[in-house]
Amino acid sequence: MKQSTWNHTTPVIFSPLFDWPPKPLKAILALMKRWGTISRNVLFLAMAIWVSWSFMPEETAMQTLSLGWVGSVFLRNYLFMLVIAGGLHLYLFTFRLQGSRSKYDSREKQGKSRKFAFRNQVWDNLFWSLASGATIWSMYEVLYFWGVANGVIPTLSLRQYPFVFLTWLLATPLLTSSHFYFIHRLLHWPPLYRPVHRLHHRNIHIGPWSGMSMHPIEHILYISSVLVHFVIPSQPVIVLLHLYGRCLGPAFSHAGFEKLKMGDTGVVDAADFHHQLHHRFFECNYGTTDAPWDKWLGTDHDGSDEATIRIRKQRKQRKQRSGVTTAN
Ligand SMILES: [Zn+2]
Ligand SMILES: [Zn+2]
Repeated sequence: MKQSTWNHTTPVIFSPLFDWPPKPLKAILALMKRWGTISRNVLFLAMAIWVSWSFMPEETAMQTLSLGWVGSVFLRNYLFMLVIAGGLHLYLFTFRLQGSRSKYDSREKQGKSRKFAFRNQVWDNLFWSLASGATIWSMYEVLYFWGVANGVIPTLSLRQYPFVFLTWLLATPLLTSSHFYFIHRLLHWPPLYRPVHRLHHRNIHIGPWSGMSMHPIEHILYISSVLVHFVIPSQPVIVLLHLYGRCLGPAFSHAGFEKLKMGDTGVVDAADFHHQLHHRFFECNYGTTDAPWDKWLGTDHDGSDEATIRIRKQRKQRKQRSGVTTAN
C-alpha cells in the first residue's frame, strides 16, 4: 500500500468468521475480542447497562406517551451525541491534541463551503446529526419502550435468559453490518442518491460530526435495523446497545484517525478505514468489515492503488453504459 496516500498501518481485514476453509478458533477469538478489549463497543455496552439500570422508569409509566419519560429519552440522547461526537471533535480537530498522528490523510481539512448549511461543514453536520439523527433515534427508542410496556413487543428477562443476551451480543454486529450494506446500496440507487444520500456524501473530508449527518429519510432507513427487536424477542439492554452502536458509532467511524492516542499510546481504535475509502471513492465499501458483503459482491476497496484503479475503471464503464454517476 502506498503510504504517501494513506497513513494507514493495518490493511482492511474482514471478520475471520467467514474465512474459507473455516478457522473456528480465529473466528471465536475475533468475536470475543470485540467485547474483551477497550473499544467503542464496550463503552456502548457500559452505557446501555447504566441507562437500563439507572434511568428506566416503571413499565406502567411508559404505557402512555407522557412528556416526562419521553422527554428524558430525547434529552439523554442529545446529550450523549453532544458529548461523544462533540468530545471527539474537540479532541481531534479543535484542540488537535494528537496532531496528525494516526490521521488517515493529514492533508484533509473540513472546511467552509457554500454546499454546507451555514457555509460551514461542522455546523452543518452538527445540525443534521442532532436535529434529525438524534431525534429519529429517540423516536425509535420511545416506540420500542412504549411497545414493551404495552405488551406489543416481546422481551425476555436477562436473568432468566442470559444465553439470549449472549447470542444477541454476538449476532448484532453481523445483523447490523448486513442491513447497512443493503440499505446503503439502495441509497446509492440514483433516484435515492440525489435527493437523500448525497447530503451525507457532501462530506468528502470527514470528521466525528459527519457520521450521523444524514437526510431524515436516510436516518429512518439506517436506524431501521433496530426493528428486528420489535419482532424477535430480545432485551432492553441489547436494544440500547444496538441504538448506541448505530447512532454514536459513526462519530468514531468517521473520525478520520486510526487510533485515539494519549501521549504516544494508542488507547482505542477510532475510525474505520474501510468506510473512509467509501467517502473518497463512493462506489465501493458499502458495508463494514463485520460481514464481508463487499468482498462477496465485488465492491471491496482495500486501500491499495490497484483497487483505486479497478474502482475508477468500473465507474467509467458504468458511466459509458448508463450516462449516470452517483458521485457528486
Ligand atoms: Zn459515512
Ligand atoms: Zn454512500
